[in-house]
Amino acid sequence: MATNETIAAIATAVVPTQGSVGIVRLSGVTAYKIAQQIFQSPGTQVWESHRIVYGYIRHPKTQQLIDEALLLIMLSPRSYTREDVIEFHCHGGIMAVQQVLQLCLEAGARLAQPGEFTLRAFLNGRLDLTQAESINDLVGAKSPQAAQAALMGLEGFLRSPIIQLRATCLDILAEIEARIDFEEDLPPLNIEDITAKISQLLVKVGEILETANRGELLRSGLKIAIVGRPNVGKSSLLNAWSKCDRAIVTDLPGTTRDVVESQLVVGGIPVQVLDTAGIRETSDKVEKIGVERSLTSAQGADLVLLTIDAFAGWTEEDADIYTSVQHRPVILVINKIDLVETKPQLPDNITLTVETAAAQNKGIERLEQAILTTVQTGSVKSADMDLAINQRQAAALTRAKISLQQVIEAVTDTLPLDFWTIDLRGAIQALGEITGEEVTESVLDRIFSRFCIGK
Ligand code: GDP
Repeated sequence: MATNETIAAIATAVVPTQGSVGIVRLSGVTAYKIAQQIFQSPGTQVWESHRIVYGYIRHPKTQQLIDEALLLIMLSPRSYTREDVIEFHCHGGIMAVQQVLQLCLEAGARLAQPGEFTLRAFLNGRLDLTQAESINDLVGAKSPQAAQAALMGLEGFLRSPIIQLRATCLDILAEIEARIDFEEDLPPLNIEDITAKISQLLVKVGEILETANRGELLRSGLKIAIVGRPNVGKSSLLNAWSKCDRAIVTDLPGTTRDVVESQLVVGGIPVQVLDTAGIRETSDKVEKIGVERSLTSAQGADLVLLTIDAFAGWTEEDADIYTSVQHRPVILVINKIDLVETKPQLPDNITLTVETAAAQNKGIERLEQAILTTVQTGSVKSADMDLAINQRQAAALTRAKISLQQVIEAVTDTLPLDFWTIDLRGAIQALGEITGEEVTESVLDRIFSRFCIGK
């Protein structure tokens, strides 16, 4: 990877008529020179690191005015990438930032790849891989808790324990290898001590691994489909839940024909609710499309809220719908509970139920609790901080765990010392992949290609 190139990108979202400020970012050896070519500052403002300069961006040849902007200078090594970084804080929207970016490219910069600024920060040792991944998580966070978990990662709350685990493995490896090389000169290995240390490592690895489920939920969120016969109160339920009028509530059966998507947060987990059209056998063409779509969306959901009308009780149609969604996790929502004195009779196999009176905004908290119980968030606190590892980290940790278990087996079976070291090295390699101490270029490509451009 050639790091003598200066890269450029628009670092803010590019949306017409939105955002009062847009930032174009440069990083690399010629960043400062490019700024000198295209930015003119009136008066006696000093151009030095970590200062903001006010002025005009002009085409260097024609002197045409491109934007009135601020220039932020962050010279190496005190910058995000540890290279010289320049930011032009331009007017928002599309045109100003695009024209400024174009000028930077004409002046010799290259358009940055997705995540390339962060990749440089990693390659230059400013961040380890867990922190780099946390930055992407932070940018993509859809709930305050997801953002918090990302911040913990950025602050090194995953990096530190992994580095410690790896250091202990390296210590044990050194002790064993010394016995292989200088067997006669050293006291024999303390096998009990080694087994105890590796068992402790396994406990810690297990604890961190347990955060993977929560990490996955925080990152990708949950897709929940609300299904049920027409008029049982699905729209009312979604309305009560989202407390905003995204779905139309009406007395006419079958009027919610579209799948309306709503973004909510339940216990920190971003939830996408698919409010689906009433499911029933129908000859009405338009309604049929809605019904099919709702069944399709239920197939793609992580969790189905099958809603029934408490007053009507458990009907044959409800049973049919239940049969078609049964392969997904299902919570039965008994709505309109305000209309009955006693809960309707249900089939024995349905145990997970929640009673609601959606039109009166009642039962939503119980519903959220049932959802959380169903998905089992598996939150594990480490040093009072929430960790939430991602799939890549979980896969590497699992490899480390297997290798460590094999070391213990090799010790128990009194296999030759070489067998112990092979597995220990396996664990060291896997842990190193998490922090990036041992990582291949293709793994880096895969990680950083998921970033947005300008990050
Ligand atoms: P959908 O077709 O399943 O989306 O049902 P709607 O949400 O449109 O509700 C159908 C009718 O039932 C509306 O008149 C709602 O006001 C009424 N409704 C919804 N939830 C409740 C409830 O909990 N109690 C009572 N009494 N009526 C409700």
